[in-house]
Amino acid sequence: MSAIALLMVFLLGVVFLVLAAIWVLAAVYVLRDARRRNVSHAGLWALGTLLVGPVGLVAYLVDRPRSRRIACAFCGEMILDTDRACPYCGRAREEIGQGRAG
Ligand SMILES: [Zn+2]
Repeated sequence: MSAIALLMVFLLGVVFLVLAAIWVLAAVYVLRDARRRNVSHAGLWALGTLLVGPVGLVAYLVDRPRSRRIACAFCGEMILDTDRACPYCGRAREEIGQGRAG
């Protein structure tokens, strides 16, 4: 195999690894965000994103619920209305109640 061919194989490998990383990161982001927003079928969204990559990420971003932001009654940080718990102080959503709208 010539040096040029070896270089091409190496570059293709690098490109493949970068694309694979983008695919996996997109799927991980979708899974975490979907769970945080209580999206139904969070795992299915992540699996779909793993299959189609950035296209799945874009579809998810378009489809995901747009939550109202409220202030946590305990620490005052702005959290999503659909958060199951405050990501900052860890209080359960039920404890926070309706929170202060804002
Ligand atoms: Zn809090």
